Amino acid sequence: MKLIPVPAFADNYLWVLHDGKRALVVDPGDATPVLAFLKANALELESILVTHHHADHTGGVDELRDTTGARVYGPATEKIPSPYEHLKEGDKVTAMGLEFNVIDVPGHTAGHIAYYTPEVNGRPLLFCGDTLFSGGCGRLFEGTPAQMLASLDKLTALPPNTGVCCTHEYTLGNLRFALAVEPGNTELVAYNAECVKLRDAGQPTLPTSIEQELKINPFLRTRQAPVKTAALHFDASAHDDISVFAAIRQWKNQFK
Ligand SMILES: [Zn+2]
Repeated sequence: MKLIPVPAFADNYLWVLHDGKRALVVDPGDATPVLAFLKANALELESILVTHHHADHTGGVDELRDTTGARVYGPATEKIPSPYEHLKEGDKVTAMGLEFNVIDVPGHTAGHIAYYTPEVNGRPLLFCGDTLFSGGCGRLFEGTPAQMLASLDKLTALPPNTGVCCTHEYTLGNLRFALAVEPGNTELVAYNAECVKLRDAGQPTLPTSIEQELKINPFLRTRQAPVKTAALHFDASAHDDISVFAAIRQWKNQFK
């Protein structure tokens, strides 16, 4: 199996998983680069997995479905280009011979879902849309800090070696903020240097892993002492898990 982040727009990745014959794509905001990739690699599109309703994740769905006949899967409670199979937590999707578990991860949008499969090329794989990014998390457009924290807790409960396929190349910007929160985190300093090298070489920083993110991502570290202390500087009333998370999210929104 090959896992390829097909770039689209300014900083989106349209993840394609293929076996040399068949392919699936996640969150195709634009059909053009996906059709070009399929053609260049002589692939037949089998499935389209959608995590949430934003246009940069769904804009190519109709054209791809109509051109290729691929099956479309998406969150039950959001407006996804129809027809598609409506999914909620606990549902399973079989695509490319793999079984994906559906996880509800509200926060960025109200009905956002993620797709987890226990083994691709020897490790688990997660397609998490705009919920978790390397060094960051999605903005709270439709959900509360409590919902997003609970969603991220579900993702960090997955095996540490899970490959995390985020849908944006936001890593360097996120790490600049992470370093402001935790300047003394040596894992973070080292990871940032690695990611700068990758971007200088024109390479994606993704996929990341749950293990890596737990070491460096301030949104997954809101129960760690240095992050709690930093949150208090931003909001002196940030004393419990949810208010620490909310403070870090608010701080990031304003960070320049
Ligand atoms: Zn989004």
